[in-house]
Amino acid sequence: MTATPPPPASTAPPGAPAAWERRERLRAELEQQANLSALQVLRTTLESSPDGIVVVDLDDTIVTCNRRYLDLWKIDGVVVGLTKASVVREFCTPMVENPRALELPERQGSDLRDVYVSEIAMKDGRVFERRVAAQTEGDVFCGWVIHWHDITERRRATRHRDQLAHVVERSLNEIYLFDAKTLHFSYVNAGARANLGYTAEQLGQMTPVDIKPEMDEAQFRAMIAPLLSGEQELLKFETVHQRADGSLYDVLVHLQMDTHGDRPSFVALILDISERKKAERQIWDQAHYDTLTGLPNRILLQDRLAQKIAQSHRTGGRIAVMFIDLDRFKEINDTLGHAQGDLLLAQAARRLQHAVRASDTVARMGGDEFVVLIPELQEPRLAIRTAENIVENMGAPFDLDGHVVNVSASVGIVLYPDDGQDAESLLRCADQAMYLSKSRGRNCYTFYTPDLEQASQRRLRLVSQMRTGLAEQQFCLNFQPIVDLATGMVHKAEALLRWNHPTLGPIPPGEFIPLAEDSGFIGDLGEWVFEEALQWLARWRELTGRDVQVSINKSPLQFQARYRRDHVWVQRMRQRGVPGHALTIEITEGLLIDVNEATQECLLHYRDAGIQVAIDDFGVGYSALSYLNRLDIDFLKIDRSFVQHIDTRRADLTLIEAIIKMAHALGLKVVAEGVETAQQLELLRQIECDFAQGYHFARPMPAKAFEAMLLDGRT
Ligand code: C2E
Ligand code: CA
Ligand code: CA
Repeated sequence: MTATPPPPASTAPPGAPAAWERRERLRAELEQQANLSALQVLRTTLESSPDGIVVVDLDDTIVTCNRRYLDLWKIDGVVVGLTKASVVREFCTPMVENPRALELPERQGSDLRDVYVSEIAMKDGRVFERRVAAQTEGDVFCGWVIHWHDITERRRATRHRDQLAHVVERSLNEIYLFDAKTLHFSYVNAGARANLGYTAEQLGQMTPVDIKPEMDEAQFRAMIAPLLSGEQELLKFETVHQRADGSLYDVLVHLQMDTHGDRPSFVALILDISERKKAERQIWDQAHYDTLTGLPNRILLQDRLAQKIAQSHRTGGRIAVMFIDLDRFKEINDTLGHAQGDLLLAQAARRLQHAVRASDTVARMGGDEFVVLIPELQEPRLAIRTAENIVENMGAPFDLDGHVVNVSASVGIVLYPDDGQDAESLLRCADQAMYLSKSRGRNCYTFYTPDLEQASQRRLRLVSQMRTGLAEQQFCLNFQPIVDLATGMVHKAEALLRWNHPTLGPIPPGEFIPLAEDSGFIGDLGEWVFEEALQWLARWRELTGRDVQVSINKSPLQFQARYRRDHVWVQRMRQRGVPGHALTIEITEGLLIDVNEATQECLLHYRDAGIQVAIDDFGVGYSALSYLNRLDIDFLKIDRSFVQHIDTRRADLTLIEAIIKMAHALGLKVVAEGVETAQQLELLRQIECDFAQGYHFARPMPAKAFEAMLLDGRT
């Protein structure tokens, strides 16, 4: 632009009249007017530009500028006529980060249409785009027009976007975009590429369905439909992703629609939750599996049983539930220690699994109790076969780190829907049936029958009334004479415990002793037996002046540290003036199979005090005779089941004869139990048995009756 008015458009013709002059003046006036208004238009245009504009001529003098330019550099005054260099020096340089950028381009080359664009950062944080264009008149260069355009916002936005893109790309979480129509990945961040193990190129050919082995395309499309329709904004779901190498991992997917781009697409944010899932599974396992045996626990069993009941309810099928309790487990656990006990349980668990089909469930209920669940039982016979398998498998010796032990199993069986309608009642009934197996002598199975319910009620009642029963003197000792076969004399008796229940009548010890053992009451009961027996023993020795002896039965549990009272017993005997040898303690073989230190100490203590030890029920258990050498045993009591048939079964007689010979060789005396006939007695005499006990001589009798017998002099 130039301030110089254009030259007159025409010249007056020679000798022109005044009218022409007037017209010419008017035309000139009008032209001036027009020029003025053109200038006005230009000025307003300049001022209404959002950019700062300054025009500099060839001499670097500022020709014009707008208000915005002045404001931009905080100039309060007139700059037209000043040199650009001085303005830059005074106003601009102090305000910009990089003053060198303010320099104008070199006098330009050939193309006058070039525009020089540069970015100038202000100290106050704003950013300007400076555009320098040549000003020309025709083809002649006559200065510069400089625009200052504020791009602070634009820069901030792009920087923000770049930052975001960077964050997304670098994120360890997997982030990807895929096309809403074709489902093809349009972007997959570095985290996802690295984790999935595919290159960006490979992924470009794939869709999210290709990495989801649990879903096909139709399922996936159905799942994202609510996002497409706008019904839902965010979809959150857990699934499994598959890497290029085939490995799987658990993920949490956040899926959203993105409609900002040129094509609608989905944005997925993937969180790898395999650690959390693993931890969750571990917690679940811990809550549902038994750590020792790896078997399902009570909770899982109850779940499965409930499930199977629901299934069978629909299909009309049958289920068998077996309750299994290891016989003698407590004893082994107490004598060999918990580590061996654990080994036994783990081995027992394995044997149980072998005894059933893969589709059956074996669970550990706690302690030495297991449950087998046979769903879809086609015929009850299968239950019998399985129970037989279990009993047989459990009967084989267990090798616990070199200790060979024998355990057996007692099994109770119930059938659904025959015996119960829900998991709880089925398990309760199976437990009752198992109990019957125990009282039948263990190592067998029993089917549930309704009267077992009564038996269990009775057991509960007995357990709860035992303690008061003892306090209220419902217990007493009976004594059964033991005859010395060499002399025919009686100076020994076995003390046998009796419970006369006020309403239920006499309860046999075979029934209440196991209950006392289970409930822990055996400790108190055993103490009472000792005190009572000692009382009578002291009295009879005094009354008769003879060497009367009494034997008492001691449960293996009483050898446990918490019940151990051998020191007290020895002391009490001394106080009553009863010598050690007058008391015999009857123990079962099981206790001695693997003697622990506490038991051994206790037995040594008895020996030192002269107290006699007898092995009760000899022959029915393990008959591992090695302990007879090692430990100080005084008597063997041959079990009634052998004595019973010696008059009819030659083999039994031979066996007893061999036992007696061996016992004598080891310096032990032998007592035959359950002698019921004169013939049995005669045979026992012939094979040099030392003592005999049984109905043939006398039944267990009240203490007073035995006392009368002693005093009678019949002995
Ligand atoms: P056990 O120690 O084997 O006692 C012998 C059992 O055989 C007694 O049964 C006795 O009455 C019975 N008996 C004796 N002679 C004959 C016979 O000729 N024929 C038959 N058929 N049986 C005979 P009981 O009194 O019912 O005791 C059963 C079991 O209870 C005992 O077996 C013993 O293991 C236990 N027991 C009894 N009293 C106590 C006690 O004070 N403490 C402990 N821990 N157990 C006891
Ligand atoms: Ca006995
Ligand atoms: Ca016995």
